[in-house]
Amino acid sequence: MRCGIAWTPNCGGSCKEMKSLLKIDASVQKETVELLKRLVGIRSVNPPGNEDEIASFVKGFLVENKIDTTLVPLEEGRSSVVARIPGSEPGSVVLCAHLDTVNADEEKWTVPAFEARIDGGRMTGLGTADMKSGLAAILEIAKLVAESGITPKKSLVLALTADEERAYRGAASVAESGLIDDAQFLVIPEPTAGKAYCGQKGELWVEAEFVGAGRARLDAGAGGSTRSCPHRGSASPLPKKRRDFRRCRDEGGPRSTSVRSTGDGR
Ligand SMILES: [Zn+2]
Repeated sequence: MRCGIAWTPNCGGSCKEMKSLLKIDASVQKETVELLKRLVGIRSVNPPGNEDEIASFVKGFLVENKIDTTLVPLEEGRSSVVARIPGSEPGSVVLCAHLDTVNADEEKWTVPAFEARIDGGRMTGLGTADMKSGLAAILEIAKLVAESGITPKKSLVLALTADEERAYRGAASVAESGLIDDAQFLVIPEPTAGKAYCGQKGELWVEAEFVGAGRARLDAGAGGSTRSCPHRGSASPLPKKRRDFRRCRDEGGPRSTSVRSTGDGR
């Protein structure tokens, strides 16, 4: 399988070749696990955020490995991190992870939330999966590339952002910083059950036909308005997960929560 990222001087883009070029072996795996343990030990729950501590740890790791690194301040006590290994051609591949985690109700945890423990081949600790594991992997990849002396064709950029668990303001400030303006590809190692998914910025449009008796309601969800609209067909209720539709917009409909009379919607 070709990885799609061609590296100079002699890698034709095959993952096997790249793996050997970067010397990914058991010691790298062990080192990554140790790095993950340290990341889990740094509290970066959001709210309130306080990503400065983990941001400065991450920056220290990258600088130690001679990688050009910039802190992108968000607000007091909160920062994102952008790092870059220059490529030989214009454009960049961005590896992106977030620095914050959801909050932890520690009283309900049966293991320490801020201590990574391994039991039966599984690690526990807040953020182990979402997404300090991805963060650790990104950091280790950057280290390996820097150590290898390989010059990638495209610059390798790390965008490690604050505030993902709430309002994505860290990602927004990184985008506005100009530091990733040359991005052509973005890889986000969020946990997705071990499968890779392709995505694209923008809206997702879903074609759906709503079936109901005469009139039905489309609930806008908490805090939103509830509207009535005509429907055709049988007396089937709206989908149970109707809140999933709260962002659907009828083609030509005046409001995001309205469905036109034919019952079709996008
Ligand atoms: Zn996440």
